[in-house]
Amino acid sequence: MGSAKTTYLYRGHIVSPVSKEGADCQSLQYDFIDLRDGLLAVEEGRIVAVQDASSLEGQILLGKVGSSAVLVDCSERLIMPGLVDMHLHLPQVTQTAKSGQHLLSWLNQYIFPAEARFAEDDHARKIARWFFKELAANGTTLAVVFTTIHETACRIAFEEAEAAGARVIMGKVMMDFHSPEALTEKTEESLAQSLALAQRWHGAADGLLQYAFTPRFGVTSTKELLRGCGELWNSLPGTYLHTHLSEAREEISTVSSMFPESRSYLDMYSRFGLTGKRSVFAHSIHLDDQDFAHVKESGSALAHCPSSNFFLKSGVFHYKRARECGCLFGLGSDVAAGPHMSLFEVMKDANFIQPDYWIEPRELFYRATLGGARALYMGEQVGSLEVGKEADFIVVDPRAKSGIVDNIMSHPTDEILSCLVFLGDDRLIDQTYVRGRLLFEKSK
Ligand SMILES: [Zn+2]
Repeated sequence: MGSAKTTYLYRGHIVSPVSKEGADCQSLQYDFIDLRDGLLAVEEGRIVAVQDASSLEGQILLGKVGSSAVLVDCSERLIMPGLVDMHLHLPQVTQTAKSGQHLLSWLNQYIFPAEARFAEDDHARKIARWFFKELAANGTTLAVVFTTIHETACRIAFEEAEAAGARVIMGKVMMDFHSPEALTEKTEESLAQSLALAQRWHGAADGLLQYAFTPRFGVTSTKELLRGCGELWNSLPGTYLHTHLSEAREEISTVSSMFPESRSYLDMYSRFGLTGKRSVFAHSIHLDDQDFAHVKESGSALAHCPSSNFFLKSGVFHYKRARECGCLFGLGSDVAAGPHMSLFEVMKDANFIQPDYWIEPRELFYRATLGGARALYMGEQVGSLEVGKEADFIVVDPRAKSGIVDNIMSHPTDEILSCLVFLGDDRLIDQTYVRGRLLFEKSK
């Protein structure tokens, strides 16, 4: 007999998308569970039960409180899966809300100088530490993250992520062309450093940390860099490829003049072996039907970043078409082009940016949780509150925000979700857990 495990019982209103009965994990279908007085039971970082407190099983669990179980009272609050941010930039947290430019001039004026500062190790550590605190405070339990070109700053970011207990897919940015001098790499060095970082960090912290090869975008890449990146990514199974695609018109026309042999921006990435499972393309606004078909067939994923698209006036993602063609996609804050890290705000913007297409709150919650996890091929591990999954979850207090009625928790669940989408932000986050570990708790 081993020593008895402690069971942590979180009691509150449990709302979560769940895999549809009989459907496999990569299926795009989902149901919702809705337990007004629910119990989420967690042992050693894993979910072992999700029950109605009044059920026989729930009563048995509650009977263990005081001996092998600890009760955590989350009454009058929601217990939900942690939020999945499919695209944001660690070094840019200092540059939010710098407005007035389209993509390429915004990068030159604000972003590239801020990223160049990551050559200073102390600065890199200070900002990385702040970034992971912010992630947890916003209820984000899985994030796909750009760092900068600096090998040391990327290592520091991984060290800080590990210390914070964060779950991230992250990588060193690769730029060897059309970039300011301080951010221009030698192609071979960029590839060698990326490989070394992937070998060191992919799968570290017992799998919480994963590596993404991260060429910035077509504009700042030579053919040699993209080809070498494709070879590295394909040689290390399980690693990710993370880049930008078809965000701004000016960017797209630059890429098409740089790579005239390609039919489209996505086709260019595909020619270098950069599409497929575990590739993540941020924005993907100006795609045509052939591109969508390629995304679907290759198993690539799109990160829709509506707040950023609003901010830089980049255009409107084809949400309806992406959904109808069965593409894998989720939501990204794209800090700092997206001014806020809260996925609640991103959900709202995803709805607002569509001129004539309504997206239901449940659908938006799915995209910000299980849908994002599935797009990252992590749908069997995280993204929803289901037995056997790792315990990545948040405790949400809708009453913490002005404009939401006091008795909101007694309203129908769809009304609660709608309030979270249209009025929510980081103030609603009470607690954030990754693999059962408390990463953030709001001070009372
Ligand atoms: Zn971005």
